[in-house]
Amino acid sequence: MPKDRPELPPVEELLTAAVTALGGVERPGQVKMAQAVRDAVESEEHLAVQAGTGTGKSLAYLVPAIRHAAEKGEAVVVSTATIALQRQLVDRDLPRLADALESLLPHRPEFAILKGRRNYLCRHKMADGMPEDEDDQLFDPREVSATGRMVQRIQEWANETETGDRDEIVPGVSDQAWRQFSVTARECLGAQRCPSGADCFAELARERAGEADVVVTNHALLAIDAMEDFAVLPEHDVVVVDEAHELVDRVTSVVTGELSESTVSLAVRRAGRLVEQGVADRLQEAGEDLRALLAVAPPGRVDTLPGSLGMTLALVRDAAFACITALGPRNKDKDDPENAGLRKAAFTALDDVHDTAQRMLDAFGPAAGRDAAGDDAEDSGNSRDSGDSRDSERGANGGPGDARSEEVHRAEVVWLEEGRGRVPPTLRVAPLSVGGMLRDKLFGDRTVVLTSATLALGGSFDSLSRQWGLRAGEWTGLDVGSPFDHPRRGILYVATHLPQPGRDGLPEAYVDEIAELIEAAGGRTLGLFSSMRAAKAATEALRERLDVPLLCQGDDSTSQLVKQFAGDPATCLFGTLSLWQGVDVPGPSLTLVIIDRIPFPRPDDPLASARQRHVAATGGNGFMAVAATHAALLLAQGAGRLLRSMDDRGVVAVLDPRLATARYSGFLLNSLPPFWRTTDPAKVRDALRRLTAGS
Ligand code: SF4
Repeated sequence: MPKDRPELPPVEELLTAAVTALGGVERPGQVKMAQAVRDAVESEEHLAVQAGTGTGKSLAYLVPAIRHAAEKGEAVVVSTATIALQRQLVDRDLPRLADALESLLPHRPEFAILKGRRNYLCRHKMADGMPEDEDDQLFDPREVSATGRMVQRIQEWANETETGDRDEIVPGVSDQAWRQFSVTARECLGAQRCPSGADCFAELARERAGEADVVVTNHALLAIDAMEDFAVLPEHDVVVVDEAHELVDRVTSVVTGELSESTVSLAVRRAGRLVEQGVADRLQEAGEDLRALLAVAPPGRVDTLPGSLGMTLALVRDAAFACITALGPRNKDKDDPENAGLRKAAFTALDDVHDTAQRMLDAFGPAAGRDAAGDDAEDSGNSRDSGDSRDSERGANGGPGDARSEEVHRAEVVWLEEGRGRVPPTLRVAPLSVGGMLRDKLFGDRTVVLTSATLALGGSFDSLSRQWGLRAGEWTGLDVGSPFDHPRRGILYVATHLPQPGRDGLPEAYVDEIAELIEAAGGRTLGLFSSMRAAKAATEALRERLDVPLLCQGDDSTSQLVKQFAGDPATCLFGTLSLWQGVDVPGPSLTLVIIDRIPFPRPDDPLASARQRHVAATGGNGFMAVAATHAALLLAQGAGRLLRSMDDRGVVAVLDPRLATARYSGFLLNSLPPFWRTTDPAKVRDALRRLTAGS
């Protein structure tokens, strides 16, 4: 990319050229957004832009981004939450945009996609330079042969691929098979030391990204680049975060640590090839203690550290440390190049176990780690009887003491997740807030533009800006609205005559209401349920009562179901979370969106409940800051499925009467598009019949 600073056409001119070339219509909201992005980049002030569906927000940020890159000679990073949007940008928007702007800029805009290292084939591992991490729990012969076939397909593809990008393999392969040919960033030897470094696919992708004007990546890699000591993305001074409403969840996932018998036994397998048997055995025994303890402990948040868990975590930590010490100095690879890959993989797994166990102890305060270490030193033999679940239960139920003060000082939360299938019970640890981290590492030394169709919750950006760690005066918020005429084209119906949703599944009255609405709409319904159980219950009950085809998430792949739903107006589709955000069906196939209940986090969601208690303990309104914010975001996303093109019309029906009656309803209603509102079921059914008759 040339580093000169030519005089470039203004953003407005470039946007007009782009919209004309792409055959679209320039919209006032799009122009306003493009100008705001340009101003933010020039003034180096963070910007949050809410841009409703149909605004054309991709062009509104890509055009000023490309202009900035051409002017400054430095890449702009665009981060998305979903692969679908990444693909849309790289396969559709950016190539057409490059064609449209080429003649107006000093060079054709270049773009590249960059993913995490584990998404690329590792040539060194392929050449037997790294351990293969065979899973000793894989004893189902059918799974073994299915994995074997995938492994063979990867090997054949590896001889032809030019990018080494896992997404090129069609049909896709399982994580299990792919892991045998890929490494994480921490396991990678580094291009300088790796014998395959010169041909490394991940390095080639980075090189291409280094030449690009726009680098498309995902929120996870953006977080890793910001938080780790090593740079993953090319140098950049501007980041656009699209689907920014998902940023906090994605960053939280990246920084969530986990510990289970599987993570410990992986470390044992890797260390076992390089250290004395006795040292590896000690870690194996500690892992068995952990397995026994977690097998009987109740799932959920661990409020106070039970003695048995503290001792076991300390045992695991200390045994991992002993293995790390036995591996010797980290920089001795040049004396032992043959084992460099094995050693790196062993260090990574052991560090992970050691650091996560320590982090979990630290989550209960500095004394927890010390006390546990003391117990370990004095009484490691007794800790083997840690099948005693009484301590764990005490922990999960919360202990006495100054709970409020504990909440104020707590930085991380630990919880136990139940085992499922081959996945054993797993302890997890995550920060109560990632705001401080984002503030320091992401917003600290670059300009960030955050955008989504849903950012202003309750009519204000404050809820999300607080979660991002931004303070007043450090950012500007802008709502460019939507080109859709919501009051004329959509109805928000709240079924105030229905009972409040209970804990015992879907009330009969809800099933009746759904049936009547679907009959009036002639199918054409997307049912968004707060749980898979409710979606399945509604499907079962209504398949018997209705004549229209009814699909339920899980019947087939979600993309296949959405395709079927979009292709036949009579068909209805019911499902849960991924449908709330992922369905884009313009036209008459989607005329009615039914939402069964306000999507608050589950009361037993350990992270949400811990965050809520923490906000309350520090003087805030925990319910509004966490539960209501979460619900508002999802409700707005769910309601946003209705109007996807200028010609769409329809109804969003919320069966949960609390949306009209509860004290927090104003906040939730203000988060939704400005549909015409009613609580009259007869009016809604009439409107649906008229719509169906007219289409
Ligand atoms: S540099 Fe890292 S990812 Fe690339 S081939 Fe070597 S070990 Fe694998």
